[in-house]
Amino acid sequence: MNIKQYIASIPGFPKEGIIFRDVTPILKNPDCMKYVTEKLSAFAKEVKADLIIAPEARGFFFGIPVALECHVGFAPVRKPGKLPRKTMSQTYQLEYGVDELQMHIDAIQEGMRVVIIDDLLATGGTVEAMIKMVEFKQAIVAGIGFVIELDDLKGKEKFKDIPVLSLTHFE
Ligand code: IMP
Repeated sequence: MNIKQYIASIPGFPKEGIIFRDVTPILKNPDCMKYVTEKLSAFAKEVKADLIIAPEARGFFFGIPVALECHVGFAPVRKPGKLPRKTMSQTYQLEYGVDELQMHIDAIQEGMRVVIIDDLLATGGTVEAMIKMVEFKQAIVAGIGFVIELDDLKGKEKFKDIPVLSLTHFE
């Protein structure tokens, strides 16, 4: 299946000079959603995932169905102040300024094989922050799966030693 036809491209969103890649048409098409879930799940099974994590909000669209399909748990990665119990945090660099992600401190156990799922890989900063939280808990990032990878930004170079699957690519 060519999933590119289910990705909308919006020039100038959220700001001038950016083409936003919108995955919501995938969610509206059950055949495409099934295809995406199956491909990412096959990858997660291959690397022997025993936990899926994904960042809010678009990562949840794909991370939760993949966890269900793999019959493993899911743990959310959220912006600060959203999770109700004790958390761990990791800051990461944006083009201008810094941002922060949090997980429940007990979401990951030592030695777990964690697979990170997100809608899109750009600079890799978001994933890098998640890798640091997994490693802080002495667990292993077994693989990273994306629906879309933006090749020109070379985000993958930030995690050279980890298996990565991207279902489709844009410049
Ligand atoms: P990175 O940290 O630079 O790799 O940016 C990736 C994060 O930003 C992901 O969590 C994406 O959801 C989000 N993101 C960046 N650009 C886009 C886009 O064009 N479409 C959808 N999400 C995007």
